[in-house]
Amino acid sequence: MTWDALYSSAFDRVRESIGRVGRVLLAYNTNIDAIKYLDPKDLEERVEKAGKEEVFRFSEELPKKITSVEHLLGGILWSVRRGKAAELFVESCLVRFYMKKWGWDELRMGGQVGIMANLLGGVYNVPVIAHVPQLSRLQAELFKDGPIYVPKLEDGKLKLVHPKAFQADEENLIHYIYEFPRGFKVFDFEAPRENRFIGSADDYNPNVCIRPEFKEAFEEIAGKVELAIISGLQALTKENYKEPFEELERHLEVLGEREIPVHLEFAFTPDETVRKRLVEVLGRFTSVGLNEVELASIMEVLGEKAIAEKLLAHDPVDPIAVTEATLKLAERTGVKRIHFHTYGYYLALTDYKGAHVRDALLFAALAAAAKAKLGDVRSIDDVVKAMDVPVNEKAKAVEEKLVEEYGMKDGIAEVNGYQLSFAPTKIVAKPKSTVGIGDTISSSAFVGEFALR
Ligand code: ADP
Repeated sequence: MTWDALYSSAFDRVRESIGRVGRVLLAYNTNIDAIKYLDPKDLEERVEKAGKEEVFRFSEELPKKITSVEHLLGGILWSVRRGKAAELFVESCLVRFYMKKWGWDELRMGGQVGIMANLLGGVYNVPVIAHVPQLSRLQAELFKDGPIYVPKLEDGKLKLVHPKAFQADEENLIHYIYEFPRGFKVFDFEAPRENRFIGSADDYNPNVCIRPEFKEAFEEIAGKVELAIISGLQALTKENYKEPFEELERHLEVLGEREIPVHLEFAFTPDETVRKRLVEVLGRFTSVGLNEVELASIMEVLGEKAIAEKLLAHDPVDPIAVTEATLKLAERTGVKRIHFHTYGYYLALTDYKGAHVRDALLFAALAAAAKAKLGDVRSIDDVVKAMDVPVNEKAKAVEEKLVEEYGMKDGIAEVNGYQLSFAPTKIVAKPKSTVGIGDTISSSAFVGEFALR
């Protein structure tokens, strides 16, 4: 079959069956993204006012965290000069107030849980129960309509309500995103490419603060779901990971007892201690989703430096190196499903078999392309609008390598007793939006696969 035919039939089958998926638990990170498109004149004035010399110092060397306006402005200049992204925690309440007064152009749902809740619940109509660390009015407004629920305890009794009906005036957890285009000029600096600097005015998500409802009533919450997706552990550090990990392990135990498949969305975790701990508990998850940088960073902590280097050496990423890395990860941890995604193709290694694994990857690739093409995907029928996006040309060579090495046929092969599934992706040349596209890919594939089972 041609890839177009496989795409088309995968989409039809997922659309037909996705209504049968029960509730999906999403934990732990949700926040507000406040996007500000930087204006060079405004930025220059602010730098002058704060003190050019001091600010420029921090544009040479990024501070560890933001405790002054000079840090904030210096951090922004650091990103502009290099065209590189950076994210720092804003500790000072005065700087938080400064950022709030500086304002934003746009508010968006932030955090993997928030993004996936809007996609699964708001677009696919799959019911979700979301962990939202703080539910302010602003945060609640960013949730789409649809079967999206948060647990609420009333006199010790658990109720599920839409975030907009939660109506508790909790804190705003705002990630201020300062965006600049390629060629953006301030003082003598010019941005070599478009990018962003993020200042997080958020104490809850970086520390994975778990809500009382999820501590007190987790058994009952778990009893109401069929699948779970865990994310948001990436910002933990060796200083603060112990407490949230205890809670995580308890949650995994409860979910495990009920045989609920749990997916871990593995975002890049800079702290090595935390990354190692995540790999240690990976076997208690059913599934994990990651990209090449994240897979390489796991190979590093497993002592597989050579594979880590191979994963980052080629564009597109060498699929044989990916297969070797995922095999090592599966064998060492016991995780049953590994979904790898990179620019151009996806691979899934599963310890079970069936064409539905590949079909779910194809559905996810279509959803990602629809997101890139349309910016906002409003319903599952919008996903099919990406059918006319061409399949990535570079994926041909990737597929040929897999055919040669593992005798892959129609994107499916058997390797060391595992099934390897492949999907060449559709790449939108001029994307409208790629924010949260990794979350779109992983959650669509995981939920899509269970819809097809
Ligand atoms: P993020 O954290 O931004 O979501 P990820 O690396 O997790 O980043 O996800 C990016 C993935 O999105 C890539 O692996 C690629 O498969 C997909 N992608 C990126 N740009 C496009 C595009 N223009 N069209 C389709 N898919 C894209």
